[in-house]
Amino acid sequence: MSLPEIVIDLEKITNNVRNVRALTDPLGLEVVGVTKGVLGDLRIAGAFLAGGITTFGDSRWENLQRLRQAFPDVSLMLLRIPGLSQIESVIQWSDISLNSDMEVLRALSEEALRLSKRHKVILMVDLGDLREGVWPRDLAEFTKKASTLPGIRIVGLGVNFACYGGLIPTVEKLNTLVELAGVMEEILGYSLTVISGGNSANLGLVLNRTIPRRINELRLGEAILLGTESIKRQLLPGAVADAFVLRAEIIECYEKPTLPQGEIGQDAFGEVPEFSDEGWRQRGILALGRQDVPVEGLILRDRRLKIFGASSDHLIVDLTQAPEFAVGSIVEFNLRYPGLLGAMTSPYVRKKYI
Ligand SMILES: *Cc1c(COP(=O)(O)O)cnc(C)c1O
Repeated sequence: MSLPEIVIDLEKITNNVRNVRALTDPLGLEVVGVTKGVLGDLRIAGAFLAGGITTFGDSRWENLQRLRQAFPDVSLMLLRIPGLSQIESVIQWSDISLNSDMEVLRALSEEALRLSKRHKVILMVDLGDLREGVWPRDLAEFTKKASTLPGIRIVGLGVNFACYGGLIPTVEKLNTLVELAGVMEEILGYSLTVISGGNSANLGLVLNRTIPRRINELRLGEAILLGTESIKRQLLPGAVADAFVLRAEIIECYEKPTLPQGEIGQDAFGEVPEFSDEGWRQRGILALGRQDVPVEGLILRDRRLKIFGASSDHLIVDLTQAPEFAVGSIVEFNLRYPGLLGAMTSPYVRKKYI
């Protein structure tokens, strides 16, 4: 065994899927299981399937390719709007993609025709988070133009919240989405099959059952993987937060002061660090660093420990309250979303499935 490792409890993940579906099913919400936080991991995707997920969503076509090869029958959604350099892969490996650019749609249409396919698209509208999406004012015109492209079929309208701008989804915003879908349907002359209302940030509206009835899909990663909604990061009722546990070992353990000794300049990341003097403390160095996970993504499972800070390959923790820790001891962490993303994509973190 070599550390660090991430211990992945597949049963807990399946339990979290079932848990989320117990909330969404009664409201007529289809769940797209989002795998981008775990590098499109096939065993985790299998745990999604066991919980009843039938569509996987990922931001990277490379992950979709692996998922397609392992699960030929599932539906695959590309979550990040495609780039012009990726058109071939998008058509080949996704059944449906989220889109907001006319030039990209033209290219998708051409490539689909070349392969005698019809590629399904969900148009994205920006309701204020200021990441992807057509501005609402322009959506009608955009739909009109896109509807003339023979290689694509517009099957839905989607929106994203709380990603760039931290915009909180509200009933009002989602009612606007439904109204915009109506405008599109008049232009298209058929009804949209998908109104995709957002991500794990929308679960508050699911819990209090105020999500508008026409919304029929959510794209969920965090709520399944970490069991949390993503506005206040509260654990969903019935969910577990420890399906993933990161484990790292202590490689040095000494009592040292909390203030560096001498003149302070920039640290390894170009910042001038600041310290508060807490006197001499028992300090452990873990073989874990920013190359593996961002420190902000780590939650110590043992509440007696505290994180002092980290460089590329070292994480320094305060062990004063936990005297049994020594060189060779293992420290365990729960993960926030950035921590999960880092650990799952780091080639140095071994994956152990239980
Ligand atoms: C990442 C992503 C999601 C899933 O977000 P979670 O907060 O993990 O549920 C949904 N939609 C899009 C477009 C995304 O990029």
